[in-house]
Amino acid sequence: PVEVRRAADAPAETDEDRLPTPHPEAALRQLAAQALGIDGADITTLTVFKRSFDARKADLLAVYIVDVALADATAECALLQKHTPNPHILPTPDMAWHAPSQAPEGFGAAEGERPVVVGFGPCGMFAALALAQMGFKPIVLERGKPVRERTKDTWGLWRKKVLNPESNVQFGEGGAGTFSDGKLYSQIKDPRHLGRKVMDEFVKAGAPADILFAAHPHIGTFKLVKVVENIREQIIALGGEIRFEHRVSDLLLSPTTDGHQLTGLQVQDLRTGQIQTLQTRHAVLALGHSSRDTFVMLHRRGVAIQAKAFSIGVRIEHPQSVIDQARWGRHAGHPLLGAADYKLVHHAQNGRAVYSFCMCPGGTVVAATSEAGRVVTNGMSQYSRNERNANAGMVVAIDPPDYPLDTANWQAAFGDEEGTALAQEAQTLSRQQPPAAHPLAGIVLQRQLETRAFEVGGGNYEAPGQLVGDFLAKRPSTTWGSVQPSYKPGVKLVDLADVLPDYAVAAMREALPVFGRKIKGYDMADAVLTGVETRTSSPLRIPRGEDHQSTNTLGLYPAGEGASYAGGILSAGVDGIKVAESLARNITS
Ligand code: FAD
Repeated sequence: PVEVRRAADAPAETDEDRLPTPHPEAALRQLAAQALGIDGADITTLTVFKRSFDARKADLLAVYIVDVALADATAECALLQKHTPNPHILPTPDMAWHAPSQAPEGFGAAEGERPVVVGFGPCGMFAALALAQMGFKPIVLERGKPVRERTKDTWGLWRKKVLNPESNVQFGEGGAGTFSDGKLYSQIKDPRHLGRKVMDEFVKAGAPADILFAAHPHIGTFKLVKVVENIREQIIALGGEIRFEHRVSDLLLSPTTDGHQLTGLQVQDLRTGQIQTLQTRHAVLALGHSSRDTFVMLHRRGVAIQAKAFSIGVRIEHPQSVIDQARWGRHAGHPLLGAADYKLVHHAQNGRAVYSFCMCPGGTVVAATSEAGRVVTNGMSQYSRNERNANAGMVVAIDPPDYPLDTANWQAAFGDEEGTALAQEAQTLSRQQPPAAHPLAGIVLQRQLETRAFEVGGGNYEAPGQLVGDFLAKRPSTTWGSVQPSYKPGVKLVDLADVLPDYAVAAMREALPVFGRKIKGYDMADAVLTGVETRTSSPLRIPRGEDHQSTNTLGLYPAGEGASYAGGILSAGVDGIKVAESLARNITS
């Protein structure tokens, strides 16, 4: 087949009946034929590969990439040759997934033979699915509950201020992205089109088919729930097994010349409290960024971990209409465009980058803590994205030198005994030449800010909040303006400078008016800030080698967002597939 890029710029139609493409296939066929210099009747099939919109002109334009097939390969080759070197007319790439390995007949019968996947977020889910499709019958261990039960627990915090630390926005079937906007785009390099496999599997499992061609696809939270359940069923049908409420609490290791070899996992059944041992020499660690107790355990067992930079800040809410107007101008409200999104960045004078994070058009701000006595914000939306407010993180980049060193902070984060011991390690590392950050130091800062937000918010899971006008004027807020916050269970008006470090507050105060010049109304006085946003990415990295195994612990495959190999649903899924492929190769080689 032949791929025709940007062949068809044409006025878009609004007729809902004609969705998902706003142009009838005949019109697209005609435009593609024109671009190719052939007769429309010569095109045997036409598929829309990507569709985006250009709202800069008086007419709203749709821009397509389409794949067309001609009667036979010879005709396609001749046509491609005729158009070489036109960069907009190319052979359609092969985007199918080709499994690199297949389990031998009868695989899995021997004890300890089956690979284990720890965590059933997008990374663990796609690792398990790929392993199951290759015949390796994975055992998945997930500390949280199946997605429907988990949904009830998550709503428990939002509606009744009751947190279940093992079943919440971060933990449980589907992982951190289940209650989200379900944005499915990423800027990772993906020469093997593994992102396409993730999308194809989502659609097979019930996601709307438009995610395959929309320029900025998203699923929305409720549709994701069903998709996650269907992928689980597929893994089970292929011989996999999923054990919910099973938390990995320790590693069994045997020494090697330059590190360790995994021999098994200690697993706690959270329903009974019983601890079991599961033999395995291959485990994918797809923990996500919030499994802090597991990170401490890995550090204690000597698994190589490094501290890394991440970002902290707040969520900002505007009326969606303000964002639509600024982004789409006269086309604001056009049904084909939906709710507008944005991406912003500013480099502040104090050297800090301030940027928008995880923007959720037409969505709500959600309580995203997984730990008692702490407050964390994030955002989600439904597929329709039709809530009144737009929200996004407004976060400031921080580095390991920002992380606290004093023992009191470490004790507050990890308890007296463990905190004292870890603080001593951190202080020793800081005196080394060159100084190094302790692998767990970012968690100390996260816990410090989240605890502070809980206290300032009133100690009942309400989030501390402030209006942008008051934040800029350096005074606490006392009444709401035209924007009502969407965060549940509630927001307490305060001065957010009491919650965040001074450098972050200064950088955000500088950035807001700059953002207001890019998106008119962004710095409106009534826009609402709530905090704190601390779970932007993992505060650590678990280094791995070329074959995706930990650099010092053979058999452990650190993967996904928690190990810092992904930043979002799509990239986590892609990383899961890559790691599953390496693991399968290692088993069979
Ligand atoms: P996770 O999804 O975090 O999954 C890790 C899993 O491991 C969890 O289910 C956890 O319970 C389990 N686990 C942890 N420790 C253990 C243990 N010891 N034993 C057993 N199980 C364990 N990304 C996007 O691309 N688009 C969005 O719109 C988007 N919106 C978001 C909205 C919210 C509210 C949140 C919180 C995140 C959002 N993200 C979004 C980010 C996205 O969810 C993550 O990047 C992604 O889920 C990371 O996938 P993962 O599989 O690596 O980790």
